[in-house]
Amino acid sequence: MFNKIQRKLTIQYAFFFLLFVLLLMAALYISISALMQQQQVQELELFFGKERYHLEKDDDFKEDHNKEEDHNKEDRVTDDKKIEYDANRANFYYVFTKNNELVHGDESFYGLYKDAAQLMMHVEEEDPQTVEWKNQDLLLIKYDSHNGSYIIIGQSVTKQHHLLERMMYAFIALTLIGTLCIAFLSHYLAGKAMVPIKKSFERQRKFVSDASHELRTPLSVFYSSLEVLENDDENRFSAFGQEVLTDLKSETQHMETLLEGLLFLARFDQNKLKTKKEDIELSELVNNITNSFERTLPDSVQLKTQIADDIKFVGDETGIRELLYILLENAAKFTEKGSISVSLTSINNYIKLVVEDTGIGITQRDLPHVFERFYQATKNRQKEGTGLGLSIAQAVVSQHQGHISVESEFGQGTKFIVSLPIVKKD
Ligand code: ATP
Ligand code: MG
Repeated sequence: MFNKIQRKLTIQYAFFFLLFVLLLMAALYISISALMQQQQVQELELFFGKERYHLEKDDDFKEDHNKEEDHNKEDRVTDDKKIEYDANRANFYYVFTKNNELVHGDESFYGLYKDAAQLMMHVEEEDPQTVEWKNQDLLLIKYDSHNGSYIIIGQSVTKQHHLLERMMYAFIALTLIGTLCIAFLSHYLAGKAMVPIKKSFERQRKFVSDASHELRTPLSVFYSSLEVLENDDENRFSAFGQEVLTDLKSETQHMETLLEGLLFLARFDQNKLKTKKEDIELSELVNNITNSFERTLPDSVQLKTQIADDIKFVGDETGIRELLYILLENAAKFTEKGSISVSLTSINNYIKLVVEDTGIGITQRDLPHVFERFYQATKNRQKEGTGLGLSIAQAVVSQHQGHISVESEFGQGTKFIVSLPIVKKD
């Protein structure tokens, strides 16, 4: 149980740390990339501010000049002389007419002028765009000039993008390493914090176990004495006295059952129970128990059985008997009219035992708690019992590495499903 809590705490701490750091890293990454872009845009704006006068003057000149010329589209676009190419240039620009014809430009990526207008076709003015062009990341801004002509300025942001990419990988790696460290640390700290809790829990378990053990002997002496009194030949008790004696006996019996249950669970908790590995003819055992159980049922309750032949099992016979009694007793106790069905099958390497009744059922509120110690559903409290039966059943199933579950509909009935793995005898 403590290992489970420790594991749960570790996972929770690591998960929240991971979430927190991821959010932090994401925020950091977004802010850095936004700042970088802001700076690049500022650089471009500065460049545009400085060059504006020349650009627009050139633009006017070309426009005027072009008016006189025969408009030869092919020549305009393919004329490399309008473009000054310099690979070392940080910022580049292109001036286009309103018909997307290149007027002139300075470029640092050879041939970009052919695609620049297309890349910025539907982009609003002064809206910075990061576009990918021949493995290059480019930041482009479009500025409207007069007469419908426009200017595209830009710079390469490939290096910055690579830097950001590397930064992101570093962030992810750091986050994962940090999470691993936190997981180890929280596992260690949770283990440390668990030590005093474990100790006090163990002391409590030991106390329950010792107390149940110590109470057993005086209680059986008490019970035997009551029996002696009851069977005394010279019966000196009045009718009332006799009644009190009978009540005392029944209460003592109840206490004995309770103590047995407590002792069993305390030993189970302390791992003191040795699970015997006996060869059990399970089909035969279930048949015998259900047959004798059937005799105790009132006429209003019918028993239906579906027990597969020749199922063998290796386990603790006393425990398995106890498990069956608990489930059958519950079914009988909470079914006044209707039927109880018991089925036993073997599927792959598992044995499946199902005890189903058409009794009063369990409310959805009570259902998750029925395996808790001393838990009795509110509606069923008037029935006698200790509330330990299902906890013991669960302990027996867990001793055999099995699983027990319950399904129920209030007012319709209840179904307990037990699956036990078939193990080989060593
Ligand atoms: P005892 O220790 O004597 O068995 P109990 O029967 O009350 O006492 P459990 O067997 O642990 O205790 O069952 C716990 C509770 O689950 C019951 O009090 C009852 O409310 C509910 N329950 C168990 N089996 C059924 C069933 N077949 N139908 C309806 N309710 C059930
Ligand atoms: Mg019970």
